[in-house]
Amino acid sequence: MRVLFHTFGCKANQYDTERMRQETQARGGVVTKDVGLADVCVVNTCTVTNAADAEARRFIRRLKRENPLTQVVVAGCSAVLRTAEYAEMEGVVSVVPGHDPVHVAAAVGAAVAGPVERQGSLLQLGMDRGLDGSHLEPIGAAILDRREGATRGWLKIQDGCDRKCAFCATRLARGASRSRSVEDIILEARTLSRHHPELVLTGIHIGHYGRDLEVPTSLSTLLARLLDAVPDVRFRLGSIEATEIDELLLQLLSTSGGRVAPHLHMPLQSGADPVLRRMKRWHTREDYRVRVFEVADAVGRIGLGADIITGFPGETAVDHEDTVRLVEELPFTYLHVFPFSPKDGTAASELPDPVPQRVAGERSRELRSLAQEKQRRYRASRAGEMSLVTLEAQGRRALTGDYLRVDVAMDGDGVGLGLEACKRLHSGVLRGSADDLRVELQGSRRVELQGSRAPQIAWATSGMESPPIFPVSST
Ligand code: SF4
Repeated sequence: MRVLFHTFGCKANQYDTERMRQETQARGGVVTKDVGLADVCVVNTCTVTNAADAEARRFIRRLKRENPLTQVVVAGCSAVLRTAEYAEMEGVVSVVPGHDPVHVAAAVGAAVAGPVERQGSLLQLGMDRGLDGSHLEPIGAAILDRREGATRGWLKIQDGCDRKCAFCATRLARGASRSRSVEDIILEARTLSRHHPELVLTGIHIGHYGRDLEVPTSLSTLLARLLDAVPDVRFRLGSIEATEIDELLLQLLSTSGGRVAPHLHMPLQSGADPVLRRMKRWHTREDYRVRVFEVADAVGRIGLGADIITGFPGETAVDHEDTVRLVEELPFTYLHVFPFSPKDGTAASELPDPVPQRVAGERSRELRSLAQEKQRRYRASRAGEMSLVTLEAQGRRALTGDYLRVDVAMDGDGVGLGLEACKRLHSGVLRGSADDLRVELQGSRRVELQGSRAPQIAWATSGMESPPIFPVSST
């Protein structure tokens, strides 16, 4: 049984697909990237906007056009909110509302066992039953082993969100915040560290990690435990609210010597208080502004990003100007800017005073070009400095701790360092200009983290992102 997996949406959704893949493989499924060969296609959907729902439907129709025999299982966020709609689509044999890997793997088995002639192996593996309540025990491990084909691993620490932002459908699709246990996360981090030199702590609202556990804890406490328990990797935080960065987190960012990537992505959404109130955000422009400066002061060199929505209902020219001025003032190194797009079922879709799409688009373009200029200046300022990088694209590209994508300087034929090299962190010097920034790996040699905690102190006090404190091995 060959199964194709396709994911829309965020890192959390990508992580969920990996769990679905792992459970399906444990039941005998073979992953394929070729639609023409796929007995079953699993589409893990996103519902962040109405456009995301429409894209998933278009994709399913395309799958059926390219392979009329394939069976489609639809899962994910959009499948929660539009279950019936997907169930009626041609070729869709099962809709799994949510992200449960066992349910998806069982649905995959049922898809094959149904319309397609049954095969002995499927029966032996108990894959002939679907969502009828039987055979829904996990066969694969509850711990993810790797993220296929990627240098950086996603480590999902929680799901769901307790906030009520007016524009967001995620809470509707994923429910309240639920944290994984510290023990599970550490076990998974150790497993993933065999393949990935960098792990990104991901989830839907990671700043609320641990609040719901029997013994409550926090994101920063978890991170401190991970640094201790899994010494050979760099950790990076997924999107986190500025108001949820506590003092311990600041301390870890500023003293881990790069083992916590100096990079924070803090959603802003708007730099105008009236808009923040209509969005049902809990913080003010000033709360955000103050925290960002505190972060920058504490950490020094840091990649700072934010999400901004332009043209939210009721946003005036003055509100937009406020956002522009805040962006100019803060040390952002990049931004994700989107024009507002109403999403069915959210409070924002009911709000009066819509902003014309043309105006929302113009405001987006203005902020994007401001962000590009800030990014250009930041990249230029990094030339000549050390950086700890993870490799991508077979070692041809690299990602710095502060979230800059750069080329890897090559001596000869431009062939990358290869997949094996991508399994380790490397240290190097950034050279070139903003538009042509590249990393020269130290003496064309690789740097391997050896797992010692002692050097962290030396590293931290050096004031550099990644001084050469690790044993260096020739390649
Ligand atoms: S959590 Fe949000 S962004 Fe992620 S897949 Fe679901 S709707 Fe999309």
